[in-house]
Amino acid sequence: MYYSPNKDMVTIKDLDFSLYLSAREIQNKIRIMATKIASEYEGKNPLLLVVLNGAFIFGADLIRNMDIACTVQFIRLKSYDQLKSTEQLQISGMDKVDVKDRHVIIVEDIIDSGFTMHTFVPLLEEMNPSSIAIASLLMKDDEIKYNVNVKYTGFHIPEKFVVGYGLDYDGQGRNLPHIYQLVEFIE
Ligand code: 5GP
Ligand code: MG
Repeated sequence: MYYSPNKDMVTIKDLDFSLYLSAREIQNKIRIMATKIASEYEGKNPLLLVVLNGAFIFGADLIRNMDIACTVQFIRLKSYDQLKSTEQLQISGMDKVDVKDRHVIIVEDIIDSGFTMHTFVPLLEEMNPSSIAIASLLMKDDEIKYNVNVKYTGFHIPEKFVVGYGLDYDGQGRNLPHIYQLVEFIE
């Protein structure tokens, strides 16, 4: 096995990661986020636009904790290459989303530089939704370079690379139940 789930340390390919946020901590936070969103969107039938790939697990848990009528759609956004933001956004699935006159909540795994959301939100605005809000499980506040208005944030985290709970390192690690942080060795 290349790594074992539920361990304090995991190795994925060439890198070591240590436990940072447990599945329990994540679920507790999601319940709080979902309750807040549900109370603010009750009667509005919000459209949750889940950003693939990274937010698929967060989105699935968030909607199951939201006790109101809502709709779910998916979009695929890619800007990250292995460990870094590339500042080139690949968008797919835009033709399949119908946001006109809808209260849209973009469901993201993590905001890093802010480039992805800063680029995507104006494109969404052109499709005439009634409103747009962002819900991100994680946010690296020290890395923000672009202006993004994040309405719901789960955890404010340091700039270290993280994997697990939907987030990958070079395609792997999404199935880890906890979130792990890259161990950086000082040379
Ligand atoms: P941004 O465009 O804000 O710089 O980066 C946003 C996207 O980059 C996120 O949606 C996520 O897919 C990816 N990303 C940013 N930081 C991390 C990280 O620490 N780990 C992983 N796996 N992906 C990240
Ligand atoms: Mg993402």
